[in-house]
Amino acid sequence: MTATRSGRYAKSIRPPKPVEGDRLPGVNARHGTTSGFSRHQEMGEEPCESCRAAKAYYDWEWLQAPDKVRRNRLFAKAQARATTELRRAHPEEYAEAYQRHRAALLAEAMAEDAAEDEDA
Ligand SMILES: [Zn+2]
Repeated sequence: MTATRSGRYAKSIRPPKPVEGDRLPGVNARHGTTSGFSRHQEMGEEPCESCRAAKAYYDWEWLQAPDKVRRNRLFAKAQARATTELRRAHPEEYAEAYQRHRAALLAEAMAEDAAEDEDA
């Protein structure tokens, strides 16, 4: 397999599709997955061959998406990271806002269901 100097595969070279393996001990992830790759890193380990293969495949798939899709994914990632940061900095405010939005959305969904039932 031809990796670039940064360790990534070139856009045109399709890495082999990974095969999921056994569970990593003590965590909810399997070898041969991107979750497994992340867990290895979180535990300060060098990811195993099958987890590196899964990450390479994921990265390759990611590169296949059109630029607009890739940009939107980056924005979604930025949004998720910002949310995590704010949630950690203000856990009580986050919990309150989450419960409030959840209750409002549930009420909306129930109102829509009731309206559909009336139409039927
Ligand atoms: Zn692994």
